[in-house]
Amino acid sequence: MPEILIQNIDIALTMDDQRRRLSAVDLRLRDGIIAEIGSDLSTTGERISGRGCVVTPGLVNTHHHLYQNLTRAVPGAQDALLFGWLKRLYPIWSAFTPDDIHVSAQLGLAELAFSGCSLTSDHLYLYPNGSRLEDTIEAAGDIGMRFQPTRGAMSIGESAGGLPPDSLVEDERAILDDMIRVVDRFHDAAEGSMCRVALAPCSPFSVSRELMRDSALLARDKGVMLHTHLAENDEDIAYSLAQFGCRPGQYAEDLGWTGPDVWHAHCVKLDAEEIDLFARTRTGVAHCPCSNCRLGSGIAPLRAMRDARVPVGLGVDGSASNDMASLISEARQAMLLQRVAQGADAMSAYEALEIATRGGAEVLGRPDVGQLAVGKRADIAIWDVTGVASSGSWDPAALLLAGPAQVKHLFVEGRQIIRDGTLATMDLPGLLERHQKATTRLMQLA
Ligand SMILES: [Zn+2]
Repeated sequence: MPEILIQNIDIALTMDDQRRRLSAVDLRLRDGIIAEIGSDLSTTGERISGRGCVVTPGLVNTHHHLYQNLTRAVPGAQDALLFGWLKRLYPIWSAFTPDDIHVSAQLGLAELAFSGCSLTSDHLYLYPNGSRLEDTIEAAGDIGMRFQPTRGAMSIGESAGGLPPDSLVEDERAILDDMIRVVDRFHDAAEGSMCRVALAPCSPFSVSRELMRDSALLARDKGVMLHTHLAENDEDIAYSLAQFGCRPGQYAEDLGWTGPDVWHAHCVKLDAEEIDLFARTRTGVAHCPCSNCRLGSGIAPLRAMRDARVPVGLGVDGSASNDMASLISEARQAMLLQRVAQGADAMSAYEALEIATRGGAEVLGRPDVGQLAVGKRADIAIWDVTGVASSGSWDPAALLLAGPAQVKHLFVEGRQIIRDGTLATMDLPGLLERHQKATTRLMQLA
């Protein structure tokens, strides 16, 4: 891959081990990594101006359901709590085709890229009408996003006392077989990997205890990570106590769902004992503040988790419960929500940005990204701070207080994904047209 020099950067927030903030600096990218950081660097390749810009590591999104980009702001689901929201949307999702999953993922990944995201996880837990995990993996390849797809699953349908319709659940043996298939086919454990697969039963209330246990055993056997939804709201806790006779943290621990190779979405209702468990075991959390606000789930104990050194990253969550998927806005929301709970000094703009970059990389087991340092992968977000949103700022590095909501440039593995505010890897108008067409078809069916 040709060399690129990003030169004369106003401020680089490195998120490196020393948390250095560098001024008037150049970054040289080569072969997918950051080859050199310094002043007056030379290059044989392209030069990109960093003047008037703050440069950060690419943001990391630790929880998403890309397929939901086709069901944003659905009437009847706009103001419902989690379980009612799911019951409204399940019948619509059951009409999805493989093409729907693919175009929805392309659109969702483009949206994330504009907001500075260079690595995202995705939790696909329903496979209607022949859909497969590769429908999203191909989309990540189309956009050029570093990807951590998770093979999700639901197995307890309505007839067995579960929430989803029977048409959206799968047989547990078939789920395990497909988990093995996608790991063997798509998981790349190498440093700089563009695709790492994880295993992800949807939630403790949509699969059996046996599937939770077996998927954990399988993940350890294959050396891949584990992901699910946990302790999202009060109903979730009540369900756990009634059905399993214990809190979600205990349930997770009993079934092998703690450790540095596990991350749980939400965790809004973790108590002090569970926070301690997560800290001791290095179990990660995907904090999704906008979704938690949108569904009225509550304020996650982010401050307490950070103070206890629980690994925490950010997640935009699915686009049916946000309904925007701007990762930079999510970071701002995380900061604001802790301030609502605990006062203006509860979380700084810088700390929230650290959670959005280095924090997310740690949660996803990717020490090769999330910071600007020589030898790390060249995943870089460049923010123009000369525009309307930043004008008047005395500290442009405080991006989450006064800064643009979209990147000027975005690099993933040294490849330019966003160039001068436009998508460089795909025809965006064409993508929007296909996405709208799919949305219209689903609206007509509903
Ligand atoms: Zn979710």
